[in-house]
Amino acid sequence: MKANFSKMLREAQNKKYAVAAINVLNHLTFSAVVEAAVRKRSPLIIQTSVATVKALKLESLSALARSIIDAAPVPIALHLDHCQSVEFCNKCCDFGWDSVMFDSSHLPFEENIRQTREVHRYAISKGVDVEGEVGIIAGVEDDISHDIESLAGFDETMRYINETEVSAIAPAVGTAHGVYKGIPVINFDLVQRLSEATRCPIVIHGGTGLSDDTFKRLITCGASKINISTALKLVYTQSMKQYLNETEGTINPLKLDAFVTEKVIELAESLFTLFGSEGQA
Ligand SMILES: [Zn+2]
Repeated sequence: MKANFSKMLREAQNKKYAVAAINVLNHLTFSAVVEAAVRKRSPLIIQTSVATVKALKLESLSALARSIIDAAPVPIALHLDHCQSVEFCNKCCDFGWDSVMFDSSHLPFEENIRQTREVHRYAISKGVDVEGEVGIIAGVEDDISHDIESLAGFDETMRYINETEVSAIAPAVGTAHGVYKGIPVINFDLVQRLSEATRCPIVIHGGTGLSDDTFKRLITCGASKINISTALKLVYTQSMKQYLNETEGTINPLKLDAFVTEKVIELAESLFTLFGSEGQA
């Protein structure tokens, strides 16, 4: 069932768990992640990158999302991940997304605030929530890449939250998009300080590859939305490869899809259990 992004995250904050926000790529991964949420009775945020929206076509993806979400017995919010275009954010607001992440973190701070306010003004008129970013989260996410990381500071993050009135904040705390090359150094203290100073839900990007303990500590410190993208891409492509290797010489796309679907469901189920959202829907 369709859910309110803010309400979902406030509930997670109150009960001290995090909602998994999982990037899907197509019908298969969308359905699989939703099926996992149904099996685990978990709230869920389905994320779509700008690249995915463009590849699947906005109108088609919007219709697909509504049909899957409306039929599911658990609350699901549809979220647009990392969008650098005001116009594209507005369009998703028009087509049924429940929230959009406007990422103008690469711009000078004042300009980041100004553009986020602009997105917020339109989104709010459509009943859509906005997630913003302060600092620069390093790594590659589809067609958006940042070589240089710039960690968020407490004061600027608080000012950004207060001036933009965003519904969720993704401060750069040392996590990164893609696959980690070493062990990341995470500023848990910033997450803790922010969660004590503001009711604005805190979002962690670059969740793939963090240890179970790191996730748990982030949630204890106050994170209530954790983004997972790369892990699903890995499971999707690796399980496809595994199935094709094991069944070489046969042609059965439906069985291939069923195999991959189960692997994606397993991944999503393990996240709901780890983040504590299992049984909360
Ligand atoms: Zn991200």
